[in-house]
Amino acid sequence: MVHADGCCGTGIPNGGGGGTGGTSSGGTGGTSSGGTLKFGYPFGDKSTSPAGGSPWRMFQVLGHYWEDWKGVHLAQDIGGGAAFSPVYAVADGLVRVSTTNTSSYKNVVLLEHDMGDGTKICSFYAHLDSRTVQTGQTVTRGQQIATLMDQGTNTHLHYFFARPALCDRIANLNGAGACGYDGATSNPGVLHSDLSTEPPTYTAVGTDQWGCSAAGYEFISPSQFIDQHHF
Ligand SMILES: [Zn+2]
Repeated sequence: MVHADGCCGTGIPNGGGGGTGGTSSGGTGGTSSGGTLKFGYPFGDKSTSPAGGSPWRMFQVLGHYWEDWKGVHLAQDIGGGAAFSPVYAVADGLVRVSTTNTSSYKNVVLLEHDMGDGTKICSFYAHLDSRTVQTGQTVTRGQQIATLMDQGTNTHLHYFFARPALCDRIANLNGAGACGYDGATSNPGVLHSDLSTEPPTYTAVGTDQWGCSAAGYEFISPSQFIDQHHF
């Protein structure tokens, strides 16, 4: 039952600084982009399933308010498969961050993708057992970047897409600042694992119960973005 997605373990600066200062720049709204770069899923790259193909499935969507964590989920969780499964790059890109993390994320990877029209989008991956890429290297779509950590029956990948403002923030904090939840005080009504109720983007508010704040930063549904740019 435990689902601790805290981003900021003890000693990790979260950069929240009171929860202001976030900006959303470079975006055009929603998950649209004029770029031609093509994307696949982090599991079963050939699949068009939102969760990456059987046996993977949606555990929790972006924007879901979870009472236990008193905040809105700032990513998608996809699970149902085996621990230590390979995790693949969703598109060609640059590894902005590949590092350990003292929170339940264990290891995180942040990739930056050039859309080909002058804009960039980033993909963030957490709950990783091991990493197979290093900061600064390039990757191609479908290349293995990590393995999934063992969380028992709750084994899942926590991932989201980010525009440059949030991407740069996470890179500048060496992988921190990608809070698992926010400090929302109201429930926006998104159902736990129902993609049909998921917003394309969600802007974080407040500070989560682990002291992490991503207030003002926009988190993008990875599966909705992938579906719109699938190869
Ligand atoms: Zn999560």
